[in-house]
Amino acid sequence: MLTGDQYKASLDDGRSTYFEGEKVTDLPGHPVLGTVVQNVADGYDWLALKAVDGVSPVSGIPTTADELREKVELVHTAGMMAHVNYTSLMTLATAAGRLAESGPQYVERIQAFVADAQERDIRVTQCITDAKGDRSLSPVRQDDPDAYVRVVDRTPEGVVIRGAKLHITAASFGHELMTIPTKSMKPGEEDYAFAAVIPVDAPGVKIINTTYAPRHADLRSFPASGKEHFPEGFVIFDDVFVPAERVFLDGETESAAVFAHSLGLWERLGGLSSMADGADVLVGLAQLIAEANGLQRVGHVREKISEMIIHATVVRACLEAALTHAETGVFGAVFPNELFTNAGKYTGATEYNTMVRHLHDIAGAAVVTAPSIADLENPEVGPLARKYMSTSSDVDGEYRTRLFHAIRDLTADSYGGWRQVTNVQAGGGLYAQRIVTRKHYDLDAARQAALEAAGMAAGGDTGR
Ligand SMILES: Cc1cc2nc3c(=O)[nH]c(=O)nc-3n(C[C@H](O)[C@H](O)[C@H](O)COP(=O)(O)OP(=O)(O)OC[C@H]3O[C@@H](n4cnc5c(N)ncnc54)[C@H](O)[C@@H]3O)c2cc1C
Repeated sequence: MLTGDQYKASLDDGRSTYFEGEKVTDLPGHPVLGTVVQNVADGYDWLALKAVDGVSPVSGIPTTADELREKVELVHTAGMMAHVNYTSLMTLATAAGRLAESGPQYVERIQAFVADAQERDIRVTQCITDAKGDRSLSPVRQDDPDAYVRVVDRTPEGVVIRGAKLHITAASFGHELMTIPTKSMKPGEEDYAFAAVIPVDAPGVKIINTTYAPRHADLRSFPASGKEHFPEGFVIFDDVFVPAERVFLDGETESAAVFAHSLGLWERLGGLSSMADGADVLVGLAQLIAEANGLQRVGHVREKISEMIIHATVVRACLEAALTHAETGVFGAVFPNELFTNAGKYTGATEYNTMVRHLHDIAGAAVVTAPSIADLENPEVGPLARKYMSTSSDVDGEYRTRLFHAIRDLTADSYGGWRQVTNVQAGGGLYAQRIVTRKHYDLDAARQAALEAAGMAAGGDTGR
């Protein structure tokens, strides 16, 4: 396993990564991006403490529902990068099983890469979302043929690709870019039916980073985002050569969607898992700020918090059901249940705004106007600010101020905005979750139940 320090050293490979108009030559030493590197390094060291005979506890492919649950929990605690990496490798393992019949020539390559990545203990990020150009047009009908990543040249040794993948979580902080088609492809779109793993430092790869990290000099008023942020990468493949052994799909349009479907499942499980924890935090904040405002016994406040508790519990129930009803693929790899994963992710995303609305409604305007910690420390206004931020002799002004900072940081400004958009879009938009949920729901059984309830089942007249 890599140590945190070895991970930091591994980033010094000449990769082309940019931030706010400048090329970054020292990622660990960068004033904003360095926090991310440290965070990933800490995740490596934390996992190393849990190693069994020198092997990472999240290595290997889960073959039982219990093993899946254990690994998902470990990955979640180890941080965003460990989660992204696990999702990538499980996507590939799941896709290998689904390609067993339609693309057997790729199965061995994929399995060899997954084993090698786990042995080298590297981090693999997920490049699926293309620039996409005009959304109503297919890849071949775009004005710019590079709107979707495509193969522009083939040699006996490999292929050359061109295009861009957008919004890629932590792309600059991993070692390999798992690059897969964002959607199904049709005959005529062979050059777009392409999947591979590409090293971050491959010639022609360029990554622009964006982040919600606070630019404020004093991070004490940003309790969540000041400690942890994970930039998205705008990944450009400017004629990048990919050796044949790293290519997992090249031209088989009928198999293009296999990767997107596999990733969608694992990405939504990750989203569901973090939503379950995040929902409990929102409930806790609502209760704490209600207590600090002296309103915890007021009827409408209790009702709002009860509603929040119900949302949080339903999201967690979906996560539990997705893990408990895990399914087994062709090579014995276990994957979460599609129906509960998608329905749960959808519910968590759509109810998130209600959760935040209740929290803001209960908390009051100081969510966005509470003074900073530095203001509280100012000898002239600090004592007065503390006095007026206090609500009773039991509620310290700084304590209440810090609760407001946490609510603002998590739900109301830069990071809060990022979370709001992320809940809806990450893992594919809500539309995708509606489609997959419908596909896996037993609609025929529901029709039959309805016919029975209407007293029409025996006659066999289903009206179809
Ligand atoms: C914080 C964050 C992290 C992310 N991390 C990753 C990552 O690590 N890797 C990755 O690959 N992606 C990542 N994504 C991208 C995410 O998967 C996409 O945002 C999502 O799939 C939607 O794509 P889009 O943003 O291009 O929006 P669009 O595709 O433009 O969708 C916008 C809306 O238009 C609708 N729409 C689009 N096309 C059509 C059409 N043809 N017909 C009808 N309706 C249509 C959609 O349903 C949606 O409602 C991340 C996103 C966020 C916000």
